[in-house]
Amino acid sequence: MASGVLVLNADFRAMTVFSIPKAFLLVFLDKAEIIEKTDDVVLRTVSTAYNAPSVIRLRKYVNMPFKGVMLSRQNIFKRDNHQCVYCGSRRDLTLDHVVPRSKGGNSSWLNLVTACQACNSRKGNRTLEEASMSFSQKPYKPSFLIFLRDYTKNADAKWLPYLC
Ligand SMILES: [Zn+2]
Repeated sequence: MASGVLVLNADFRAMTVFSIPKAFLLVFLDKAEIIEKTDDVVLRTVSTAYNAPSVIRLRKYVNMPFKGVMLSRQNIFKRDNHQCVYCGSRRDLTLDHVVPRSKGGNSSWLNLVTACQACNSRKGNRTLEEASMSFSQKPYKPSFLIFLRDYTKNADAKWLPYLC
């Protein structure tokens, strides 16, 4: 069973994930409509049984001022699946500037990667070429949908059409 409810904007684009009570509240306030339901009954009144929503859609289009994923240590780890991009280790993770700061490298999605302490110190203040190291996965700027992957693992197949 999904632990959350996929929230679509009025144009059917996936926006975020809410808890079931929060999604229900929007529906009861008539701010959202239920697009897909689960088979789980979560609320029962004398006359009606309510199934938990799986996907809801906001009635009004919401302009999302913040469309990207915030650049943070945790989000970079998440993008890289909590693995060192050089050796695949999951231990002692830290952030590595691909182009070192001393060489003008900035702090951005494309220049920050997850690295273990060992690789980080092996690379030191050198570029990848200088250190003869390479990525198992090239850094990229994630869209927020990537972060929905975590939820979709155990979520409804009902979400999938809206995540493409
Ligand atoms: Zn490593």
